[in-house]
Amino acid sequence: MFTREKCRKVKVGNLFIGGSNSIIIQSMCNIKTQYVEKVIKQILKLETYGCQLIRVSILDENDALSIKEIKKNIHIPLVADIHFDYKLALSAIANGADKIRLNPGNITNEEHIKQVVLACKEKNIPIRIGVNSGSLDKDLQEKYGVSAKAMIESAKKEIGLLEKYGFNNIILSLKSSSYEIAKQAYLMAAELFDYPLHIGITETGPIIPGIIKSTLGLSELIDLHIGSTIRISLSDNPIEEIKVAKQLLAIKGLVNMPTIISCPTCGRTVVNLIKYVHKIEDYLYKVNKNIKIAIMGCVVNGPGEAKEADLGIAFSNNMAVFFKKGKIYKTINEKNFLNELKKEINLF
Ligand code: SF4
Repeated sequence: MFTREKCRKVKVGNLFIGGSNSIIIQSMCNIKTQYVEKVIKQILKLETYGCQLIRVSILDENDALSIKEIKKNIHIPLVADIHFDYKLALSAIANGADKIRLNPGNITNEEHIKQVVLACKEKNIPIRIGVNSGSLDKDLQEKYGVSAKAMIESAKKEIGLLEKYGFNNIILSLKSSSYEIAKQAYLMAAELFDYPLHIGITETGPIIPGIIKSTLGLSELIDLHIGSTIRISLSDNPIEEIKVAKQLLAIKGLVNMPTIISCPTCGRTVVNLIKYVHKIEDYLYKVNKNIKIAIMGCVVNGPGEAKEADLGIAFSNNMAVFFKKGKIYKTINEKNFLNELKKEINLF
């Protein structure tokens, strides 16, 4: 099996995908690419949450031309997402895209693909073959139905075409809205191809089903060291996609990020704990440390959990009791607790 460590290393901008145990977190802008300022603002915000690679949709020439200006203002590599029109891929490449995503289901003319391949070769940028179970070739659908087998056959065909023109700078994704089909396709791909895999379950819906389907589909793959880059697709703000991907990888010990222990609240809760937990959670995505933080709503069960964490807080009336490595070291007014906790996290 080609685990991510055994996959070829593919360079995307200043990043390497494949050939190591790290998994690159990516998302996609949901603003029309030619609205350059808004797109830059969205990408810069995503960067602060840990987005390492960003994809934008290229629907027309204006979108393709916008890549140049966007790239000047961001710090992470940019992927141009192309469907149907190979000329837009050529324009995106000319305007500085760091990677091209092609859907083999909708750019099928070999001569057109050849031109894109040669342009990528010249600029030394990779192509992601993005197979999607929702847009498979009719022939493959008729032969195999919408299945992992059909997706793999589509990938084989497209990889063969790229390899025919001496191109190996490839990343492969096999997405489906069925987490079972996607998982099966990725398991099969890891046996067949040494190209790095971009893993994700697509069109999973809003955040709650999205997290459940993505976790069910991707958890085992991650444990098997399959997948060199990840996107969690959600019908939500792309920042939520980064948060979910980061949490999933952090829980599996693959990303440095604090973990949070907090109580579910009950009639004993003496503060607005849920609001505090949301605020601190948002802050933690920007912290690159492996620490355990407990935030508990009362002094009945709170101190026990708070003691187990690297940093713990248990609330008592309008006071916050701070624990470090199991020992109470200060009690402060509840109002100052958020700033104080951030300070302590930074010092840790
Ligand atoms: S820690 Fe306290 S406030 Fe929180 S759920 Fe348990 S008993 Fe309730």
